[in-house]
Amino acid sequence: MPELLPMLPRDTRGRPLRDLRISVTDRCNFRCVYCMPRAVFGPDHAFLPRAELLTFGEIARMVAIFTRLGVEKVRLTGGEPLVRREIPTLVSLLAGIRGVQDLTLTTNGVLLPEHASALREAGLHRVTVSLDADDDATFRRMNDAGVPVSRVLAGIEAAEAAGLGPIKLNMVVKRGWNEHAVLPMARRFRGTGRILRFIEYMDVGHSNGWRLDEVTSADEILATISAEFPLEPMAPTNPGEVAERYRYADGAGEIGIIASVSRPFCGDCNRARLSADGQLYTCLFATSGHDLRTLLRGGASDGDLEATLRGIWEARDDRYSEIRSAETATLPKVEMSYIGG
Ligand code: SAM
Ligand code: SF4
Ligand code: SF4
Repeated sequence: MPELLPMLPRDTRGRPLRDLRISVTDRCNFRCVYCMPRAVFGPDHAFLPRAELLTFGEIARMVAIFTRLGVEKVRLTGGEPLVRREIPTLVSLLAGIRGVQDLTLTTNGVLLPEHASALREAGLHRVTVSLDADDDATFRRMNDAGVPVSRVLAGIEAAEAAGLGPIKLNMVVKRGWNEHAVLPMARRFRGTGRILRFIEYMDVGHSNGWRLDEVTSADEILATISAEFPLEPMAPTNPGEVAERYRYADGAGEIGIIASVSRPFCGDCNRARLSADGQLYTCLFATSGHDLRTLLRGGASDGDLEATLRGIWEARDDRYSEIRSAETATLPKVEMSYIGG
């Protein structure tokens, strides 16, 4: 007799759960101006104490339960995921979970030369590397940690050499800071097989002082690039894909645009986020989460946890980017470095 599979949950807008992003630490070795501004994340900032972080065993247990509800893609992020010790150990635990079909990690890249081979051997599929400019003066202003471009390029090369390619590159564009780097970045990476994705500056958290007039829109970014290199739109490969894809008309590869401010994509959003201390968030712009750690540490069974997750997903109604306004921008939202980008 065929095995009877329980129905996978859908939220109140009919969206399935497919993608889980896990923040493994709220700490970072950068202080990007749009994410962890130094004035807020200074020497006295209280990061999560170690005892509050989910252990690797707890994370793996949660991921296995999430796969029973439809999760296929898992991305490790943070903060900077590579500052958490022994990350390859976590990767190998997650790679061994049957339902995990796509296992990736987003990083600022500087620790990749040390860790890329171990990550690959542990079973990581690919990495996404963030890089906001290809000239040192602009990049140092953006990361505010004195890191030159060459260190990130070395990280990208180490990842490729370890077999973690093709690499996607994330560039957040903040007006007045790095929009002049859009075209040089396109020039540098076209034809290399690395896929550059431009991200509109978002009002995540409440410490970056976000203003709408500091967003360089997807249309402006596309116009800047296509004035020198004509672009053609490409069809999306799967539903829930956040990047709009374009190919260079001359065959030199593709770019992506993540237009979360000017063209919101909540209608297909199938992502959940697990913070480093075990809070579950059903939207990047949430003001509060669901405490899974207390359940985990309080003796809940796998069945209890699965039922809780199902209930949370089935009650989900989030569509922040579609209803963004001057008022919502100032809500006390959780920080990106905590919830996981
Ligand atoms: N530290 C890693 C990194 O930078 O790649 C992973 C975490 S970071 C929060 C994940 C992604 O979020 C990065 O590509 C980063 O540029 C992006 N990000 C952070 N703050 C953002 C903001 N305010 N608007 C748009 N993207 C942002
Ligand atoms: Fe750190 Fe990434 Fe945030 Fe930059 S974007 S401060 S590298 S977590
Ligand atoms: Fe998903 Fe929330 Fe972003 Fe909309 S605003 S796409 S619901 S994370």
